[in-house]
Amino acid sequence: MAVRTTCAYCGVGCGILARVTGERKVEIEGDPDHPANAGRLCSKGTHLGETVGLEGRLLHPMIGNRRTSWDKALNLVAKRFRDIIARHGPDSVAFYVSGQLLTEDYYVANKLMKGFIGSANIDTNSRLCMSSAVAGHQRAFGEDVVPASYDDLDAADLIVLVGSNTAWCHPVVYQRIMAARAARGTKLVVIDPRRTETCEEADLHLPLRPGTDVALMNGLLAHMRREGLVDEAYLSAHVSVPDGFWSALETDNDLWSVARLCDLAPADLQGFYELFAATPRTVTLFSQGINQSIRGTDQVNAIINVHLATGRIGKTGAAPFSITGQPNAMGGREVGGLASTLAAHRNFSDEDIADVGRFWAAERMATKPGLKAVDLFRAMGEGRIKAVWIMATNPAVSLPDVGRVREALAECPFVVVSDVIADTDTGRFAHVRLPAAAWGEKDGTVTNSERMISRQRALMPLPGEARPDWWIIKEVARRMGWRTAFGYDRPAEIWREHARLTAYRNEGARALDLRGKAAIGNEAYDALAPFQWGGRPFADGRFPTPDGKARLVSVAQRDAEASLADWPMTLNTGRYRDHWHTMTRTGLSPRLARHREEPLVEIHPDDAASLGLADRALARVSTPQGESVFRVAHQPGQRRGELFVPIHWTDRQSTGGRAGLLPRPLVDPHSGQPGFKMTPARIASV
Ligand code: SF4
Repeated sequence: MAVRTTCAYCGVGCGILARVTGERKVEIEGDPDHPANAGRLCSKGTHLGETVGLEGRLLHPMIGNRRTSWDKALNLVAKRFRDIIARHGPDSVAFYVSGQLLTEDYYVANKLMKGFIGSANIDTNSRLCMSSAVAGHQRAFGEDVVPASYDDLDAADLIVLVGSNTAWCHPVVYQRIMAARAARGTKLVVIDPRRTETCEEADLHLPLRPGTDVALMNGLLAHMRREGLVDEAYLSAHVSVPDGFWSALETDNDLWSVARLCDLAPADLQGFYELFAATPRTVTLFSQGINQSIRGTDQVNAIINVHLATGRIGKTGAAPFSITGQPNAMGGREVGGLASTLAAHRNFSDEDIADVGRFWAAERMATKPGLKAVDLFRAMGEGRIKAVWIMATNPAVSLPDVGRVREALAECPFVVVSDVIADTDTGRFAHVRLPAAAWGEKDGTVTNSERMISRQRALMPLPGEARPDWWIIKEVARRMGWRTAFGYDRPAEIWREHARLTAYRNEGARALDLRGKAAIGNEAYDALAPFQWGGRPFADGRFPTPDGKARLVSVAQRDAEASLADWPMTLNTGRYRDHWHTMTRTGLSPRLARHREEPLVEIHPDDAASLGLADRALARVSTPQGESVFRVAHQPGQRRGELFVPIHWTDRQSTGGRAGLLPRPLVDPHSGQPGFKMTPARIASV
């Protein structure tokens, strides 16, 4: 019999029908009844069945390189955390978690750190993915609410994709856009420095200079205002406009200035502005090209400003739409997995701290935001974090400045890693490794990019001594002395508590409200069908701010960083179609590996010719941060002066092709999200 579950990979959140056909053998097909994908799957989801073997799995608790019992491992983790907290205070410890965790796992980790240890030093690898979207939503709407649904893509007349290679990174969303285009003639504009596969079907591709998205969006808003297309009635009823907003927008936002700054043909830019002006039903979908920037939050707000000022929000087919990378980045946002938020979309206001503390019967509530990912590992390198527990993620590969991250992990007195894989780059630094349940073995909920909550269900028994993350965390919490607060026996109990917290003292104050599902029994939880919270957010023009109004945010284009003599090029990083993150799962599928067998540095053929770099030759890519060798691929879709490399390869697979060595640890000042997309670089033959 097929089990209804969801895909392990991206934030599209596709429903899957999985049939176990033998020992660790699973057949996969798309779930025709899941609203997110209606039976569609991409190559990664289709081949999930090839990745459920036990090759390379961590199956037993380990202290150092010695197998141990769960009791000994859990007691050691609890004792070392307790001792370090007693000696150095709650802010001397940290958790670094992951958008791969299920919501119930995330909830328990967050409750332990923020309500009982008494620190907010829990951050997530989602910080690297979409925290600028979170910060942008909070600035504009007062709460982190994605105001769009996939249905809006079906209903839009124009879809603008900004900084998103949707065809490769969110393939089922792209299939849905293509279907809408075939059925209704939906126009498609792609704004991206690279000419990616997503551009192939587009009506218009704007290959803008990297880092000039604010200028392009401010220019669009200035154009709308000149054309008399700002929705004054909507603005005066539903949006606060800061003093000086419009006068600031009048400076340097004429078409010619914007085209020059963005390095775009004026006719193309005008074509986009006119198309946008003529098409009220517009969805602007954005992803990592916007978020992974030291200007990410301003870029997000520049997009939202256009939608608010033109009333293109809260209506069918009209919204700004942040689409997330990981399968449960959104669930993590809902339970407060970021160091900068509390559970249930609460913040660190006195009232929210008191409410959450009362609800949890907390022993010691965190009273201020904790360290965000880059700062957390920096603090570890400085000796301020003395114990860290890393769950379901590989920061020794994925954070910027991995050399320093590795030094910090090597110096940290106590490192715990929960993972499904025995040998990861991060696990090599662990004093204790705890075997976690993998996809197909664990049970709980995830939230996709459109706020749809779905069950992820177990298909197979837990192998070896692997355990679900929520169980591991609560066992440590109980051994630290908090038995009652962490007395969970099953994910359904955690779900009910999470849902009740979203409703606690929430009489319309926050959009996230799961009270309708807070009292469901265990069987109803097991049978829970996908549902979306929030309906169509902001349809009534009310926003979760104190005055009920959204806010335009004044954002100015900061000068693009001047090229440095030693670093004449700009490096961009991203994903391949058939691989996921550091390939611990997709690397197990021979069919997925065939799409791109090695990491390539993509370079415009004219740049390659002037540097004497033949196609398929080896070349060293260097940045102020580090260097690595890649195989050269001539790619006419690259802008001149720019390079692109994939993020997936690690020490485990390859000595070269290591994108993680290259970006600088610079972050957005509002969100703390690292700027992976614009690193000064040079390239030379080896
Ligand atoms: Fe999985 Fe994303 Fe592909 Fe859907 S689009 S099958 S969620 S990887």
